[in-house]
Order: sequence, then C-alpha cells, then structure tokens
Amino acid sequence: MAYLRLDKDNQFDSGWKHEMKRVSDGLADQEYCAQMEKEVPTTVQYLIDHGVKFNHHDEKDVFLEFETDQHFVFPEGGGHAIINALFDKIRKFDNVTILWETQAEQLLTAEDGAVTGVKIRKADGRMAKVHGKKVMLACGGFEGNREMLGRYVGPRTEHLELIAPGLKYNTGFGLKMGLEVGAATAGSLSGMHCELVDIRAKKPDAVIWGHGYGIVVNEHSKRFYDEGQRHLFATFEMIALETWRDQNQKSYFVTDSVIMDRFRPGWVYDTTDQEPEQSDTIEGLAEKLGLDPKELKKTVDEFNAAINDKPFELLALDGKRTHGLSPDKTNWANPISKPPYFGAPQLTFTYGGLKCDLDSRVLSTTGVPIPGLYCAGELSGLFYNECKSTYVSPRAREALLASCSKPREERLTWFIDPPATSVLRSLTFGRIAGRDAAQAL
Ligand SMILES: Cc1cc2nc3c(=O)[nH]c(=O)nc-3n(C[C@H](O)[C@H](O)[C@H](O)COP(=O)(O)OP(=O)(O)OC[C@H]3O[C@@H](n4cnc5c(N)ncnc54)[C@H](O)[C@@H]3O)c2cc1C
Repeated sequence: MAYLRLDKDNQFDSGWKHEMKRVSDGLADQEYCAQMEKEVPTTVQYLIDHGVKFNHHDEKDVFLEFETDQHFVFPEGGGHAIINALFDKIRKFDNVTILWETQAEQLLTAEDGAVTGVKIRKADGRMAKVHGKKVMLACGGFEGNREMLGRYVGPRTEHLELIAPGLKYNTGFGLKMGLEVGAATAGSLSGMHCELVDIRAKKPDAVIWGHGYGIVVNEHSKRFYDEGQRHLFATFEMIALETWRDQNQKSYFVTDSVIMDRFRPGWVYDTTDQEPEQSDTIEGLAEKLGLDPKELKKTVDEFNAAINDKPFELLALDGKRTHGLSPDKTNWANPISKPPYFGAPQLTFTYGGLKCDLDSRVLSTTGVPIPGLYCAGELSGLFYNECKSTYVSPRAREALLASCSKPREERLTWFIDPPATSVLRSLTFGRIAGRDAAQAL
C-alpha cells in the first residue's frame, strides 16, 4: 500500500520536517523538507488531474502523532495505480520510446563533464547507447544488490529477505552511475528501512503493524523492546531492526481477543493472507508458535502482573504501563488473555543515495550541479540515523548512550524514516525534475 501523510485537504503533514530534523540528528536537509511540504499539494493535484483516485481515512483506533488530525490517504489501487495513471499519460506522447527489460548501467558524458545519455544493457545482454540532453535517474535504492548491501549496510544483510519481489530490480546502478561521474551522496548509506512481516504469508508486504497493542517476544519467549513507546509508525522500523540485528531474525507477536476484536477487520492486522494462530491458553499458543510454553506463560504472567491501573486509551500515549520489567512497556499495556500472531523482519528500502538540490539536480562532490543530470525518489538520499536512547532495548540503549558522547563518525546508529512520505517525495521531486528538464530543452 502507498500510505500518504496528507490531511483532509491534501496538505502535507506540517510536522514532518520537525520529525525529520529530530530523527536525523539535524542532518536531513531542512530546505529540501520545506520544499517538499510546499510542493506536495501541487503533486497531489497533478495526480488527481491524471485520474488517480484517493481514499481518505480518518483513523479511529491508532494514535498517529501526525499533524494531520488522525488522517491519512492512500491511492485506490495502491502505488501501482499511480504508475499506471502516469504511464497512460506518457504513452500519449508520440515522441516517447519506452524500453522495457532494459537496465541503465553507465552515464555518457561530454568532455566538459555534462551528462549526455546512458549506456544500457538490453534484454539480450547487449549494450547500447541512448543519447539525451537531460538524464533523470529514478531507479530506486540498492535493495536488490547483496554486494552493496553488505558493503554499505553491513553484516547480516545476507539474512534479509526482500519484502516485495520487485525490489530485486533495484540493483544500485543509480548510485553507482552517479558516483562514477562525481556526484556527492546524502542520507545514511549504512541505513535501511525494514519491517516485521508475517513469515507465513504468501503475499508481499504482509507487515504486522500492531506490535504496540500486545507484546513481542524473541525465540526464547522474552520481551526485548518497549512495544508501546510511541505510535506504530514511529516504532515499526526500530523493532524490526532490533529483531534483525539482535534477536536472530525471529520475533513473535502475542495479543488477545480484546485487541483483535477491536482492530479486525482493518488495515492494522489484515495485511497478511494468513489467519493468526489461536489458542485458549498461552501454553497452547506457544506450542503453535514453536515457543517454550512455560517460558511464554511466565513472560505473559509477569507482564500482566506489572501493569498499572490507568485506563487503556488507544488515541493517546495513555501511560498504561508496566513497572519493574526489563524492558517496561510504557503505553497501551493491556493484559493479555487470549493470544495469536507472529512476525519477522524483511528489508523494504535503503536510505543512502545521491545529493540533489531543490530542483532535483544531482550535485557534485564540489557542491555544484552536474550538468544534465537529475535524480528523484529513493535514489536521492535524505534519511539519516536516529541516535535516540528511548527507542531501543536496555542493552542497546546503554551502548547507544555511551556512543552518543563520541564524535558522530564513531557513534552507534539506528535508523528511522518518518513514514508515509517516500512515495510523495519521489513524485514531488520527480515532477520538479521533469519540469526543470523540460524547460531547459
Ligand atoms: C512493501 C513496500 C511498502 C511501502 N509502503 C510505502 C507507503 O505506504 N508509503 C510510502 O510513502 N512509501 C512506501 N514505500 C516506499 C516507496 O514505495 C518507495 O520509497 C518509492 O516507491 C521509491 O520510488 P522510486 O521511484 O525512487 O523507486 P522505485 O519505486 O523502487 O522504482 C524504481 C524503478 O526503477 C527500476 N530500475 C532500477 N534500476 C534500474 C536501472 N539501472 N535501469 C533501469 N531501471 C531501473 C526498477 O525496476 C523500478 O521499476 C514502500 C516500499 C515497499 C517496498
């Protein structure tokens, strides 16, 4: 699904730029973020004019912490519908040639460094040259390139599955091509966004969103993360990263019928094509999940016994929390009596990319635009690390706190993007690049 952080009037979340500043430790380009906020309504209108229909959603149960008044938007038919609508428009130009199953692998340049085209590899494996006055790179991140993942993101990336099969085509050539002609980078090259998904699912993108309304345990039936520290969009990435790095890639979501009855049907738990495992006892559920029944019962009993008397309120950080656990759950700690579900993380997208200006022109390492070269979308770097102690386990928190006092390059880092903005960012800066390039022709 392509969730879009828009309010009822299709205005972009005014809090996003502040969130970006906070989670990037001040590194994210604030001018770029302001440009995004300013341009998004035009982008949305452009999509509407081209036949994209938007569903407006008022969220009644999940506390969003967006400044959109509990509102978000998604295109009817998902991101695919946007691509189809824009392709319909492109096809109508009689001077456009679309080359399918063709990979851009190298930029062609003139003697003065201006970009003059691309070298492509066709479906039969042969190379060819395509010349053009302007070149725009919009070929995603490097999720499909194990060598680059290992090199940039680091150890254990070989264990990650792709969350959607199409990501294998994002082979990192965009970044390589830019670097070869002297482009600067932006965003955390060692960062990525990943999510907890139902490993039983046969469909892509089977994200288990609602970790905040239950507990998440590791393969030893132990909790390892404060599941309720903030709203789900602020924590789904962090818990997935922690599962991947520190929990042997396995975690299990446990909740009860109070939560399931409240949220289903709906977008929070109906993302997977598999029914949750269910049992009338915690021990029975543990057996179905392949966990030690005694250990899971002990964890759930300890959790239930540690909860305070505050009322359970979904639309606020309600302070209904545990005391004395490690880690405590600081909000939405409702007792668990009848459980289902489990999940594991998969890779969604990378963060590092090329540095662009406000007109989507690729900047060189000397800070000037490389003539003829534009870039938009995931390939343009923006997202940075978050060095924030409250988002991580006690063990990791200790290490992070110790590292926060060190120079930036020596810090341990965790990564987050304020979500429901990537599609809008790609479209907005893609449109800006197209407009600028067209004017220059
Ligand atoms: C499962 C999933 C769920 C997501 N949910 C959301 C969401 O709810 N909201 C949101 O805002 N964002 C979401 N995102 C992120 C968002 O979809 C991406 O950040 C966004 O699509 C990036 O757009 P892009 O055009 O830069 O790259 P992509 O959409 O990845 O497109 C890149 C295209 O370039 C092609 N390509 C790659 N390399 C080459 C090459 N060398 N030559 C030619 N073609 C090439 C690829 O085949 C692909 O078609 C999600 C991502 C995933 C994977």
